[in-house]
Amino acid sequence: MRRITNLLLLSLTLISMPAVYGAESSEPFRIIDNIYWVGGTYGSYLITTPDGHILHDTGTNAMHDVIVSNVETLGFDVQDIKIMISSHAHFDHVQGHRLMQQLTGAQVIALGGDAAALEAGQDNSAGGFRGLEPVEVDRVIEDGDTVTLGGVTLTALWTPGHTQGATVWMTTVEEEGNS
Ligand SMILES: [Zn+2]
Repeated sequence: MRRITNLLLLSLTLISMPAVYGAESSEPFRIIDNIYWVGGTYGSYLITTPDGHILHDTGTNAMHDVIVSNVETLGFDVQDIKIMISSHAHFDHVQGHRLMQQLTGAQVIALGGDAAALEAGQDNSAGGFRGLEPVEVDRVIEDGDTVTLGGVTLTALWTPGHTQGATVWMTTVEEEGNS
């Protein structure tokens, strides 16, 4: 199980690299089990459950329509997105949170310093501040906390550095009889 989990994390990391999968118009696809790539340039993932879906990262505002379209291309209803989580609170990963929150009413969950950045609308990337629309964070979590929806549980691993609340999300998936 550990090996598969590590492979999944590696895959997600590679897919997050814009130089590798840069096109905003990338076709959405299933990565493994209930986890789907839904674009845009910096990588957003849809984790589906019977009780609604979790969206990991929303990209920039410019990617909002691409992500919505990709979710529907996969056959899912964007209105079924119930929870938004993020890798880290930089504008290229969370600027779209506000539009997606307005569209779906999804709950925003973020860790520590990233939750504060989202609520303040401040992205303190290297190179200066870039504006974010402030987003109401519904649940502020800590290292090791879990997010559960429809029988799917994600565990937050705090990985500060790139931002104060940068988070790796871990879960178990089933594929071809293996967990
Ligand atoms: Zn960043």
